[in-house]
Amino acid sequence: MATDPVCYGEVEERGAKHRASFKGQEYFFCTASCRKKFEENPERYARLATTFHIDPQMSC
Ligand SMILES: [Zn+2]
Repeated sequence: MATDPVCYGEVEERGAKHRASFKGQEYFFCTASCRKKFEENPERYARLATTFHIDPQMSC
């Protein structure tokens, strides 16, 4: 399982419909809206994903 960097939900990589790559890293999303948020500010979400800092304000 991969973690959605926007809402921290779990996403099955196999056959995932919503994905994006940023700086050589692949990210998976539970919904198109999570993917859209990531693409609007990939630096922010990619950084949060690597530090596993969870912001309670984040959600789908
Ligand atoms: Zn999500």
